[in-house]
Amino acid sequence: MIFMRTDNQNIKNKLSFTQLILVSSLALSLLSSSLFAEEVNVYSARKGYLLQPLVDGFQAQTNIKVNVISGKAKVLQKRIKQEGANTRADVLLTVDAGNLYKAKEDGLLKRISSPKLNNLIPEYLRDDDGYWFGLSIRSRVIMYNPKNVESSDLSTYKDLASKKWRNRICIRSSSNIYNQSLLASIISNLGEDYAEEWARSVKNNFSKDPKGNDRTQMTSVVMGECDVTIANTYYLGKWIASEKDNERKYAEKISVFFPNQKTSGAHINISGAAITKHSKNEVNAVKFLEYLASDEAQKLYAQANHEYPIRDNIPVSEIVQSWGYPFKKDTLNLDELGKNNSRAVMIFDRVGWK
Ligand code: FE
Repeated sequence: MIFMRTDNQNIKNKLSFTQLILVSSLALSLLSSSLFAEEVNVYSARKGYLLQPLVDGFQAQTNIKVNVISGKAKVLQKRIKQEGANTRADVLLTVDAGNLYKAKEDGLLKRISSPKLNNLIPEYLRDDDGYWFGLSIRSRVIMYNPKNVESSDLSTYKDLASKKWRNRICIRSSSNIYNQSLLASIISNLGEDYAEEWARSVKNNFSKDPKGNDRTQMTSVVMGECDVTIANTYYLGKWIASEKDNERKYAEKISVFFPNQKTSGAHINISGAAITKHSKNEVNAVKFLEYLASDEAQKLYAQANHEYPIRDNIPVSEIVQSWGYPFKKDTLNLDELGKNNSRAVMIFDRVGWK
């Protein structure tokens, strides 16, 4: 009897232990589901350090968990295409209006009608049909070596085609979307024939073959291998704020010039977002985009990557301010960059800009 009682006791103890585990795992799952009742899945071509404060801010405000998959812009777009209806992606976060236009053309995106987004994002920074939305602005400007160039020597993108710049320009290759979008804007503003003439003349002014990214060209300017380049503003912001001594030193030896201030304004582009065609969490995805366009998130964008906010009421970072702000932006509808992309690529091919 005694043994039996002991066995029963053991069984009871065992049961209560199992029950305890069950109860605690139930409590845990309740706890985590109360922490995050909902979720949204983001495929992001933006760097983690930039995205994390935005994700934290959104999660704290909404209780919606953000799951991020990071990768290169082209790779993520390809992945969404291959995954088709099975994709987990709700949001595509990427750079360049040209990329977003391509995603729209490829049928990867869902049309969104959000009065809030339309209200927060200026019209020229979003797709006419509501397929994608600009969330931060970058300008593609002239950067020069102040030892060899006076700022009074600079004026427009057009001027870089003049003979006075022979053997003095370096710029990255035409396979990069940033240059394709710049040329697409020139096609829109000045016509296709002129755009070809411009690309040919600028190419004739190269001091070396295009190789490397914007920062490689900026380094060449610092080293005196060329006098001017065209690069995106935030790369200089990163150098100025860098923890690396050499980058901070380089930054002192290169200056920014905003072209076309008396004409169409400096070429700008965006980083932006879109909701995928097969999104399973569309409502949460819209909320995420609305958050990214809000004042709170715009302040984070402005500070984290030295980009420009999408509305003038948000202050730029101190570094960005030091280059002169506000400046005149080209307010060409950014859809044009996508529409003219293939024409731009063909022009680069014809003129031999590698
Ligand atoms: Fe970039």
